[in-house]
Amino acid sequence: MPLEPPKFRNDCFALPQGINWMPVSKALRLLRNALSSAVTSEYIETEKSRGRILAKSLKALRSIPPVSNSAVDGYGFAYSSLNSCKQKLKLEKGFAAAGKPFISNVKSGSAVRVYTGAPLPSGVDTVVLEEDTNSNGNEIAFHNMLKTGANTRKKGEDINKGDKLLKTGLIIRAPEIALLISVGINNIRVYKKLKVGVFSTGNELVQRVKPETSRYQISDSNKPMLMNLLKSWNVEAIDLGHIKDNKKDTKNFLTHTCKDVDVLISSGGASSSNEDFISQVLNEYGVISSWRVAIKPGRPILMGTINNVPFFGLPGNPVAAFVCALIFTRPALSMLSGAGWVTPQSFMLPTAFSKQKKSGRREFLRARINRNNRLEIYKSEGSGRLHSLSWATGLVDLPSYTTRINNGDMVKFIPYSSFGI
Ligand code: AMP
Ligand code: MG
Repeated sequence: MPLEPPKFRNDCFALPQGINWMPVSKALRLLRNALSSAVTSEYIETEKSRGRILAKSLKALRSIPPVSNSAVDGYGFAYSSLNSCKQKLKLEKGFAAAGKPFISNVKSGSAVRVYTGAPLPSGVDTVVLEEDTNSNGNEIAFHNMLKTGANTRKKGEDINKGDKLLKTGLIIRAPEIALLISVGINNIRVYKKLKVGVFSTGNELVQRVKPETSRYQISDSNKPMLMNLLKSWNVEAIDLGHIKDNKKDTKNFLTHTCKDVDVLISSGGASSSNEDFISQVLNEYGVISSWRVAIKPGRPILMGTINNVPFFGLPGNPVAAFVCALIFTRPALSMLSGAGWVTPQSFMLPTAFSKQKKSGRREFLRARINRNNRLEIYKSEGSGRLHSLSWATGLVDLPSYTTRINNGDMVKFIPYSSFGI
């Protein structure tokens, strides 16, 4: 038979016929069901726990506030001693301030000077604001428009000793550190950081391009990108370097490095061509769970295990590697880290673009919000366009069934910040 050229295809992302492409939602569901926490725990200082994941639920060891106190600068008295609209009260000598309690009892019909945070002296349940009073040093006078307990903070009104505070799996942020320290929890049990090894594949890669670098070589930009994504996700990112495209090295590397890490992430070499050794080695020495996912950009993505270590074989194209890391790797790492599954928060916004789309694959477009609060997308959808990732502030998430987007249609926008970056 004479050699014929293939039929012309103008879209290199068209889904080949006859292959059962797995929907993104199904791939995510499989990942979620397959994974669970892969780390042990350790006890650390609360103050140093930002970004760590709670491994034991916590109850308050102390009430907040520990005693009832004044919420303002003013005068404190017993509400029951008020008897007229134009109220006068005798002033006790002395005062109460934060950390300086007034020791004696405040008699009915008398008031005492109190400052914000001062423990309410015995006999005091209500405070009048300083600005609402006149004083001659012996007495104060004010219009009685108060309710009992006005301008005070009751013991335990924020938190009571023994209250359930935080649950296992919660990621500690600055507010939780303040909360825990306020109730006397100075040390907490957290999961150890997940150890995630990252490496690149490709004969064309050099670590850093220099003036003498050959024209055929390019910088390995995926590894620093992935390492820095991992740092934002509070896992321990381990730089495993880069391997050349050959089966022997790939096999040795994969079977050895997986002993020292909880998870492995690679970029490149994940397709099914003769030059793609990650998929070949994983097929022979590990398990490939899902790799024909109907996503753009992002094919080929490979998910599996090698010696029981979860493995993410991300595409080599930088945009695809980035999108797959956000969509698949992030929630999987969250699960393995003990923080449970995460779904990024998204917003519906009108588009400032129109577009034809193939049905049957979910597409993530690099996008940002313009001055009119509409979404614009990057001028090219090429998945090698690294500049587009920096240009964008998030991703537009188009469902697999969509075939046409018109200007002004509402679409789902996921800001980068929703991916924790
Ligand atoms: P591959 O998936 O290995 O076929 O690579 C697809 C494309 O991504 C090729 O143009 C590679 O040169 C490029 N690529 C692969 N790995 C990297 C990397 N670590 N950094 C930058 N570009 C890469
Ligand atoms: Mg390659």
